[in-house]
Amino acid sequence: MIKKPVYLDYHSTTPVDPQVLKLMIKYFTEDYGNPGSRTHEYGIRAEQAVEKARGEISKYINAQSSKEIIFLSGATEANNLVLFGIATKFGAEGKNHIITSSIEHKSILDTTEELKKRGMTVTYLNPNNEGLINLDELERSITPKTCLISIMHANNEIGVLNPIEEIGRIAQKNTIFFHCDASQSLGKVAIDVQKAGISLLSLSAHKIYGPKGIGALYVRQKNPRVVLNPIIYGGGQERGLRSGTLAAPLIVAFGEAVKMACTSMNKETEKLRKLRDYFLAGLRKHHKDLLVNGTMASRLPNNLNISFRGIDSEALMLLLREDLALSNGSACTSTTWKSSYVLEAMGYDEERCKGALRLSVGRYTSKEEIDFAIERIAKTVSRLRELSPIQKSLSLVR
Ligand SMILES: *Cc1c(COP(=O)(O)O)cnc(C)c1O
Repeated sequence: MIKKPVYLDYHSTTPVDPQVLKLMIKYFTEDYGNPGSRTHEYGIRAEQAVEKARGEISKYINAQSSKEIIFLSGATEANNLVLFGIATKFGAEGKNHIITSSIEHKSILDTTEELKKRGMTVTYLNPNNEGLINLDELERSITPKTCLISIMHANNEIGVLNPIEEIGRIAQKNTIFFHCDASQSLGKVAIDVQKAGISLLSLSAHKIYGPKGIGALYVRQKNPRVVLNPIIYGGGQERGLRSGTLAAPLIVAFGEAVKMACTSMNKETEKLRKLRDYFLAGLRKHHKDLLVNGTMASRLPNNLNISFRGIDSEALMLLLREDLALSNGSACTSTTWKSSYVLEAMGYDEERCKGALRLSVGRYTSKEEIDFAIERIAKTVSRLRELSPIQKSLSLVR
């Protein structure tokens, strides 16, 4: 028996793994001390657990020290801390230029727009029609005023992976800090902050079967040391970069989720890739004209982003609501119906953007669920085309 609606939106969030939840509960009800209270056993136990999680996370991204991990509320906050923290540190000295891409997560794009109002200048690199930025253009955009390059690892809509080692080399050659948002790639693609020359790395727990409301920022301490201003002031926790009582249960859970995802990464990604490819092949069998958005050559193993010509994905999602949990892109913008800014930046026409469907499989997706999804999507696309003479003629023209 399949539980409906079948969840195919693992890029927006994931359920908490039972093993992660079990560990987390202990730090809510038994070892509930404040990790900053080192005067008693409760605090010490919580602190030890937090430090263990910090160690796990730093190990998996190959940080030089666990002190380089700063816990905060999620990748949105991490991205804000990076952009505001660097801008307020270097902007005043005249280093007021930031380079990013036009298909970053909203927590980057809305923040850089705010920074522009505050005197920063921002270059947005546009991707090509495969979703990849041009490295020559990146290099050409660098000026003596550039203080930061912020480019994501995996895109949250199309799953396309940027060549972070090459971006890191360009940043290092020009002695510019390189920030990378790795919320989507953590646990799916190996991340080595040394190899990729990363200065700052944003991570989120709820994309990898951890709880919502916790994330981390890696802040390089050596070769070269990254200096940035905090955006939250208070008790001076997290090297002064993020004041506030540490959310020990969430941090412990985050550490466990990272450990689980990273130790079983090869096996899990192979399973996801197989399911994803099976999904695509199945849909193609029914609708040969389906378009894949973004390159398949450099992509998260669990991501599909497709368009059906002449089909509005909003209509498709509404008709499938009881059967499938789907998305057209970024969860953060899906309350207001707008076609994807990511696909628009890739130069796709309106019809293709409006038809985009983001399908993501995860740890708990079964083959039966994919068979069901293929059948439901394929039938509904056919039905929509039959219903609408305009849509039918559109699909026939193509
Ligand atoms: C989910 C996501 C974020 C936001 O993370 P939160 O922890 O929910 O704040 C940022 N960037 C990318 C690429 C994401 O996928």
